[in-house]
Amino acid sequence: MADDIVDLIMKIVLLGPPGAGKGTLAKMLKDALGLVHISTGDILREEMKADSHLGREAKQYIESGGLVPDELVTKIVENKFATDSSLKDGYMLDGFPRTVPQAQDLDKILAKTQVGFDYALYMESTLPVIIRRLTGRRVCRSCGAVYHMVNRPSKKEGVCDSCGGELYQRADDNEETIRKRMDVYLENTLPIAQFYEAKNRLRKVNGDDETEAIRDALLNEDKK
Ligand code: AMP
Repeated sequence: MADDIVDLIMKIVLLGPPGAGKGTLAKMLKDALGLVHISTGDILREEMKADSHLGREAKQYIESGGLVPDELVTKIVENKFATDSSLKDGYMLDGFPRTVPQAQDLDKILAKTQVGFDYALYMESTLPVIIRRLTGRRVCRSCGAVYHMVNRPSKKEGVCDSCGGELYQRADDNEETIRKRMDVYLENTLPIAQFYEAKNRLRKVNGDDETEAIRDALLNEDKK
């Protein structure tokens, strides 16, 4: 399938609650189209792993399920847009913007560059599905590959199929923190859907569907 769609350029924001499948879809679209995947959550976790100043500052918010302050996260995205010339060939922002002020900041960042923007893809999902997906999620410490204990288990328990790295459960993927992240999402992030809808830049898909089905629908629709 990837062969006939390699020249498709998408410049999108992935919007939706934690566990809607944003990261999974982003990886699939990256494989299919070579789009740059910008996940502020991944970048912050890398900073935590490196024990940088930013990582130490972000840790407390991330582990409690809260949001890292806007200015810290916006700076990461601003840097990326200022330094990565390949974004003009397509990108997916995953986990940013997460608040209306971040969405406004993104508009300003885009206005300063020639990179361009197509639309926000809103992946709606329901709480039972989200809890099932996130409590079963396991991530490779080395390459970041994502597994699920039931839906997508690794061949050998606790070991990454791709690189042999150790699989771990994110500290914020427990039910209590997931519920907190959902509350934070409803309060801070959901209003962004209205922000993009008002600009006629919102597309909705059902995040409860299998991510492969969402990818295929998206690619076939964009091919027409
Ligand atoms: P994610 O990997 O997208 O689920 O993000 C994990 C955590 O990183 C979130 O629960 C937040 O604490 C933090 N985070 C990631 N992106 C942002 C953002 N755009 N604004 C604020 N906090 C963020």
